[in-house]
Amino acid sequence: MSRRCRRRPTLCAWRWTCSSTTPAPVSGDTPPLGTATNLTCPECHGSLVEMPAGSTRYRCLVGHAWTPDALLDAYGGGLESAMWTALRTLDEKAALSRHMAARSHDVGRVLMADRYANQEEEALVAADVLRKYLLRRGMREETGA
Ligand SMILES: [Zn+2]
Repeated sequence: MSRRCRRRPTLCAWRWTCSSTTPAPVSGDTPPLGTATNLTCPECHGSLVEMPAGSTRYRCLVGHAWTPDALLDAYGGGLESAMWTALRTLDEKAALSRHMAARSHDVGRVLMADRYANQEEEALVAADVLRKYLLRRGMREETGA
């Protein structure tokens, strides 16, 4: 059995649920692809629906299809990428705050220098926590622990 819609094989966004016995949709009356979820597609960030077919699969309106394991892997990759970006941002914030603290100190703006020094310290503490987490996670993945 083909999973493609027989009525509009190249245009049908609901080809996974459409069959020859399904009544033709009225213009503007788009049938649902499946059950709505609170999940988003890692590729296009569109909403995902859970397909009604026998196996658990998810699709977005663009047509990206996901098994639960593929979705979990994609979410994990996106999360790790975001954490490395956060770490780089914290390192840059610490470096800029350190630079601005030194400049403020050089021109006698002691309160500003203290404020920048505090921002540097906060960024360094947060970066240290995140760096340790990412390195521990990387070691666990390398050893399979
Ligand atoms: Zn998508």
